[in-house]
Amino acid sequence: MRKAIIAGNWKMNMCPDEAMDLVTELIPLVKDAPCEVVVCPPYIDLLAVGKLIQGTNIQLGAQSVHWAPKGAFTGEISADMLAFLGVQYAIVGHSERRQFFGETDETVNKRAAAALAAGITPIICVGETLQQREKGVTDAIVSKQTTAALAGFSAENVKKSVIAYEPIWAIGTGKTATAEDANATIAVIRKAVACIYGDKVAGALRIQYGGSMNPKNAAELMAMPEIDGGLIGGASLKAEDFAKVVNYL
Ligand code: PEP
Repeated sequence: MRKAIIAGNWKMNMCPDEAMDLVTELIPLVKDAPCEVVVCPPYIDLLAVGKLIQGTNIQLGAQSVHWAPKGAFTGEISADMLAFLGVQYAIVGHSERRQFFGETDETVNKRAAAALAAGITPIICVGETLQQREKGVTDAIVSKQTTAALAGFSAENVKKSVIAYEPIWAIGTGKTATAEDANATIAVIRKAVACIYGDKVAGALRIQYGGSMNPKNAAELMAMPEIDGGLIGGASLKAEDFAKVVNYL
């Protein structure tokens, strides 16, 4: 059985004081959650949030990670630096990074590999644009993104990773993929992994849905057999909303 995992992607929101308020409110609300709970604040909040969630069921995630251990990479942060702060997860290849910061399938692969080498679980984002969906190439796009992201990984590292299927047209738009469509595309992603690593590895890999997931649609999405959790943007910025998503049962 795959343990569901729901992660909040705070994006570029929350100064440390706001981050501490949010997580303080969140801790009691999610303490009995039926899934793993992760928050991914901006880098500058990691230390403060990490201290507050010690001894709770909330885990710490970052929003990206660089592939090099150190060096001349202005503005980047290494996996070891994140691990030092107690970071357990790192989002990799979010569509906003692909769109605005030149992230490619190759850099996604390198970032995810570096995270794993430091004991951090990558949450690897894949997903199609509206144009691609309308052209009927969604399955080909997400399969290609997935296999490229995992290129060169051992079966053990594939099993440890998390994939987030995020149709780009559903992110921050209030438009959610139907539970059936999300489930079907996630099944395609799992099949692409099975083609390379076999059913057992693909069956152990957790695949989240992301894209306007909120308190109203979480239960329906989470009830789908292929959907193992969620990556939550907007609804993770209010403790009450994120708690409702996380307590989806
Ligand atoms: C995201 O950015 O990963 C996301 C899913 O955002 P939202 O929930 O706001 O659509």
